[in-house]
Amino acid sequence: MAVNYEGARQKMLESQIRARNVRDPRVLEAIRRVPRHLFVEEALRDRAYLDKALPIGEKQTISQPYMVAAMSEALKLRGRERVLEIGTGSGYQTAVLAELAESVFSIERIAAFVPVARRRLESLGYYNVLIKVGDGTIGWSEHAPYDAILVTAAAPHVPRPLLEQLQVGGLLVAPIGGEETQSLLRIRRDEDGFHEEDLGECRFVKLIGRHGWEQ
Ligand code: SAM
Repeated sequence: MAVNYEGARQKMLESQIRARNVRDPRVLEAIRRVPRHLFVEEALRDRAYLDKALPIGEKQTISQPYMVAAMSEALKLRGRERVLEIGTGSGYQTAVLAELAESVFSIERIAAFVPVARRRLESLGYYNVLIKVGDGTIGWSEHAPYDAILVTAAAPHVPRPLLEQLQVGGLLVAPIGGEETQSLLRIRRDEDGFHEEDLGECRFVKLIGRHGWEQ
């Protein structure tokens, strides 16, 4: 029998995301629109709408749907922003950001993920995304400054280059802390400096790079 992915997505939206107080209507609509099952390998498609992260190979994961929604909401996007994402992975979070902002620049350390994510995003019509292979902890200075920066892997501290590439008035969201658990931090850059807010505990794979964890 054919799987009803749309029904599963709607159920996920209600029971995992709305139920946990994600309220931004643009974020809810983005999650409703992006077909998450197309961002995992075929054998895992029937698990794509479960309340969990799933393996995407190379010991990496596609983040839990709620975490994608909560991080997207934390950036307070209104549609006109240039966003930098660190950790493209499957491209799912990238697609959600592409729904919410004007353009998305995304960096992935593992080269094999990039053509797969690019193909998925193009086939779904997301043309406002640019992805490159590289160390995201040094940012992407050619397109800076960014209105919003999202780091989707955990670092011991916020990489300095990312703070430097954040626009005044912009927001950066990143999981920061130890190897096992981290705090999801939101940092606003104002004229007078950086202001930090703790949005709660989370668990992410490591951000590996010059300003992150060592390999
Ligand atoms: N947002 C992704 C998705 O929706 O599938 C999931 C991201 S996964 C939790 C974290 C990703 O960050 C992995 O793909 C990992 O290879 C990548 N990563 C780790 N260190 C990185 C770095 N320094 N620069 C860029 N990507 C990095």
